[in-house]
Amino acid sequence: MSESLENIRLTKRPLVVCDVDDVVLEFVTPFRAFLASRGLRLLPRSFRLHGNIVGESDDTRVEADAVSALLEGFFAEQEQWQSPFSDATGALRALSETADLIFLTAMPPQHFAARRRLLDRFGFTYPLIAAKEAKGPLVRHLHGERALPVAFIDDMVHNLHSVGEHVPQCLLVHLPPPIDIHQLAPPAGDHVRRARDWPEALGLISAHLAG
Ligand SMILES: [Mg+2]
Repeated sequence: MSESLENIRLTKRPLVVCDVDDVVLEFVTPFRAFLASRGLRLLPRSFRLHGNIVGESDDTRVEADAVSALLEGFFAEQEQWQSPFSDATGALRALSETADLIFLTAMPPQHFAARRRLLDRFGFTYPLIAAKEAKGPLVRHLHGERALPVAFIDDMVHNLHSVGEHVPQCLLVHLPPPIDIHQLAPPAGDHVRRARDWPEALGLISAHLAG
């Protein structure tokens, strides 16, 4: 169950597409708490979960299938664990006053209902698309040929690159949280703007939307 692309009605305003995990809702920090509750921890050795989750008191790796199951379990229980970054609320509200704001979350659609409730609980009532597909074609489909400004915010470089390839006119904003493992991510490249926090992201996007 998901708000499908076809059901989303855009107005004649600019479009802002925004990722959720580690952009609006904290992800790595509560995922670490979830792991700790199961006697596990995430080591910041490289920018991936697989291969970096180990036991509490030894470095025995959790196998790939088990890591995927942990992630699945975390998303199923997300309402108990995740909460927003404190500076996201005001920035999203400000953006929604001048643009159509759509959440695009890379999550299996079976977790849509839990994510919808969680976002609503914090007042983030903007439309949500939960999909595992590449984000570039989805944003392209959403925005189409409209001659209006479009911006995309994500913490993951491959998502920013995907949208950049399919929607070349889109402002790409990289907004990673200040967390150890994110510092091991590859650089996004010169065509992507990096923001330190939500106020900086808001400034970049507002300037772009104003043309
Ligand atoms: Mg994310």
